[in-house]
Amino acid sequence: MPIREIRKIGDPVLRKVAEEVEEIDQEIMDVVRDMIDTVKDEQFAAVGLAAPQIGISKRIVVLNYDETEVLINPQIEVLGDDFFEEEEGCLSIFSVPCKVKRAKKVRLSAKDMKGNEIIIEASDMLAKILQHEIDHLDGKLFIDYLQKDIKRDLMLKISKFQ
Ligand code: ZN
Repeated sequence: MPIREIRKIGDPVLRKVAEEVEEIDQEIMDVVRDMIDTVKDEQFAAVGLAAPQIGISKRIVVLNYDETEVLINPQIEVLGDDFFEEEEGCLSIFSVPCKVKRAKKVRLSAKDMKGNEIIIEASDMLAKILQHEIDHLDGKLFIDYLQKDIKRDLMLKISKFQ
């Protein structure tokens, strides 16, 4: 089972809006299987992975929180107007966690691998993970939420890794 290479910041696939999955065919099943292997690989200690992070511009997220969950074409809705700010990191941005403001509560709907609808109501940590992963499907990275000067310092640090 192949573990895929994680695409890093600067790779254009991370900035594309990913396409909807129209049919859960063999190709999608192969991608999902590789995403599960990759997200569960101990070297990453990841809580979630979005398909663009392995170079596939499709709307698929695999969670590795409590349990492993595959989310096809996920859609997210913010519940209430509470926000919180916590450190956030990303496999695609090396190890430079930063504080990011996120909605405290969200409702997510998606399809599972059998095409059944899944609804997840989440708060705090899981809400943050879901927002972070869905941003990946829209070509957004957590650094986009940072103030300009903080983002500039961070980009400088990142460039030293590359
Ligand atoms: Zn990420």
